[in-house]
Amino acid sequence: MYKKLLLGLVLIITSCKGVSQEKEMAMEGNSKQEEFEITKTDAEWRNELDAMEYFILREAGTERAFSSELLKNNKKGIYVCAACGTELFKSENKFDSGTGWPSFDQEIKGNVAYDVDYKIGYKRTEEHCATCGGHLGHVFNDGPSDTTGERHCINGAALNFVARN
Ligand SMILES: [Zn+2]
Repeated sequence: MYKKLLLGLVLIITSCKGVSQEKEMAMEGNSKQEEFEITKTDAEWRNELDAMEYFILREAGTERAFSSELLKNNKKGIYVCAACGTELFKSENKFDSGTGWPSFDQEIKGNVAYDVDYKIGYKRTEEHCATCGGHLGHVFNDGPSDTTGERHCINGAALNFVARN
């Protein structure tokens, strides 16, 4: 009787340990790498993107301020990912932030994903295409206060514009 009880106790302890270990492994997996619907090798991306697009989207680079031809684009339409064509921003959410980068007060929900980056010494919220993982820019909270208050500061080279009425 006593032996049986002891065996039961050992079983409970080991099974709890098993569960907590699995949980830890799952959490590690989440923080290390996101999985994207579209994944390509580095060579494939280099082949498909031009040098500037590759620098921004795959190496998380930043284009020169005021260098994007999309900065002054006021046409109606959708801004899509230059790498995979996912719809990311709408023209009605674009505004002139004066920073020299195309700016939006909101993204198309679900199509943009976020990360934290400390690259230039302080915390910024990085944003990337949720479909292919291509880097787009950063989001700050000094945007237009009459709408969302968000300023999505986006590299024009990461976007293609599709005119639409
Ligand atoms: Zn994409």
